[in-house]
Amino acid sequence: MQRKEVDILIVGAGIIGTSIGAELSRRGASVCVIDKGNVGRGCSYGNAGWMTPCFSMPLPMPGMLMKSMKWMLDPAGPLYIKPSFSLDLASWLFHFMKAMNATQARRAVDALVVLSQKSLIEYEKLGQKYPEIRFEQKGLLMASRTPAGVAAAVEELEYVKDVGVPGKKLTGEEILAMEPALKGPLLGGVYFSQEGMGEPFQVVQAMASEIRKNGGEILENCELLDLEMAGNKVDKVLTSQGEIKAKQVVIATGSWSKSLAKLLRLRIPILGGKGYAMILPKLEKQPTYPIMIVEKKIAVTPRENTLRIAGTLELVDQDFSITQRRVDNIKNGAREFLRLPDTLEVQELWAGLRPCTPDGVPLIGYHKDIPNLMLAVGHQMLGLQSGAGTGLLVADLMENKKPFVDLGVLDVNRF
Ligand SMILES: Cc1cc2nc3c(=O)[nH]c(=O)nc-3n(C[C@H](O)[C@H](O)[C@H](O)COP(=O)(O)OP(=O)(O)OC[C@H]3O[C@@H](n4cnc5c(N)ncnc54)[C@H](O)[C@@H]3O)c2cc1C
Repeated sequence: MQRKEVDILIVGAGIIGTSIGAELSRRGASVCVIDKGNVGRGCSYGNAGWMTPCFSMPLPMPGMLMKSMKWMLDPAGPLYIKPSFSLDLASWLFHFMKAMNATQARRAVDALVVLSQKSLIEYEKLGQKYPEIRFEQKGLLMASRTPAGVAAAVEELEYVKDVGVPGKKLTGEEILAMEPALKGPLLGGVYFSQEGMGEPFQVVQAMASEIRKNGGEILENCELLDLEMAGNKVDKVLTSQGEIKAKQVVIATGSWSKSLAKLLRLRIPILGGKGYAMILPKLEKQPTYPIMIVEKKIAVTPRENTLRIAGTLELVDQDFSITQRRVDNIKNGAREFLRLPDTLEVQELWAGLRPCTPDGVPLIGYHKDIPNLMLAVGHQMLGLQSGAGTGLLVADLMENKKPFVDLGVLDVNRF
């Protein structure tokens, strides 16, 4: 049964799919977004809400080899891979190691900063229209107690300052004066002054509202099952709610994308980078700024009446199970730096799978052999911060405009 016919079908209603849908529909395209679940209930639901161009360094940075090997084997480390035999994992690790070179890292950082800065401008506009996203641009603090932590924060600063992300190094005392919610002593860190934050689920809902307002449609509980080709183009998409004929198809399925790879005749080596986020009651001494506790890799986000703490990256394949020990590590790490009550009331505990490519860079662009198939997947730990910019980029590519980023580094056919 043919259900409908559209210009552009977008598969996946996370921040990436809805941002693309909002931008394309704003430019007048007839758009339909489908999701196998509900809008914004994938990885975009409970993330830390940071819109922070300063965090544009991909995971496999040069010099990370020894550090990441140590972390990967430590179940309490911030990056963990459960030892197991899997060809997918072996191939992912091979490309991960290969990507640790300075030239590639520089190109990746430059492209990700641009995508994130474009996004920040869009989120500011969206925040004016939708106050419920609680967009704020207070900046972000990286705080550390160790020389290695301060060095990591300064390295981050050095990498992004030349591409227009302002920040300054601070002493421990300076950080404590700015953010008395932190417990001293601190050795130092960095303050990035222009970073933003918001409510991630509300941002996706706002994008979805834009799509509907612009005449687009969103079908929930509608799963892509197969693609039907006519020549070298996708003609129809077979879904759990019937066939949809589309002139162009965009895949924005986050950490689920690897399983679509066979249908797309493409290698998409994306694994899930499982992370956890917890909502806690507002603290007596509530932080004012979003804070990265550097050595623990814990993100602290102040919310109106609560506090969100998030962290860990555990490389998995579609496994949403919760490892209590890793959740406890986040709580204990946060407790070392914040005045948490003795008994913690966790109001919500959430696990999400960051769509992680081995080189830490998303895949955005047209499939080389299927000219009406666009991919926008693999936004790893920065899907929110680069989501709206991805929407602009995809819309520009569809209109044959000159891309505003180095498309080579995002090449969807590179693996
Ligand atoms: C703990 C944690 C903290 C984070 N903090 C931040 C942060 O502060 N800032 C930031 O920028 N990023 C952060 N991230 C990363 C960010 O959440 C992700 O990069 C982003 O959500 C990815 O968005 P997406 O749209 O690609 O994927 P998703 O939001 O997962 O959306 C993909 C959608 O595709 C749908 N789908 C899959 N398969 C099919 C199919 N066959 N048919 C139809 N639909 C399908 C799914 O149902 C899902 O809704 C964090 C992640 C975690 C886990």
